[in-house]
Amino acid sequence: MTPNGKRVLLVEDNEDNRIVYSTILRHFGYSVIEALNGEEGIAKARSEKPDLILMDISIPIIDGWEATQVLKHDPETRKIPIIALTAHALASDREKAMEVGCDGYLAKPCEPRAVVAEVQRFLGDAGTQGQ
Ligand code: MN
Repeated sequence: MTPNGKRVLLVEDNEDNRIVYSTILRHFGYSVIEALNGEEGIAKARSEKPDLILMDISIPIIDGWEATQVLKHDPETRKIPIIALTAHALASDREKAMEVGCDGYLAKPCEPRAVVAEVQRFLGDAGTQGQ
């Protein structure tokens, strides 16, 4: 882990996914902040100002679509790239992701390496080489 590592906010209610994604992101040198629902995701986006947000869409309290809209309407957080993680590979989900302001989109189940690749597309290398 590098102190200069870019910070990723992972909003994901499924514990297994949270562990898998946060583990590989940390392995690749990113710092990971975790949130378990939309409300916590919005709060941590505002307080932590992460470099990128991975947003599961199916999350409690406030779903990922609404949380994304809230963050994209807030001048303090609107520039933070948001990558949606949706459970269905539906064309309508991809359209909706763009509509609410998501910057990227991954259909679940997605390989951990694919998540890292998408994060790297926005943030570049975090500073440490993963294997
Ligand atoms: Mn979920």
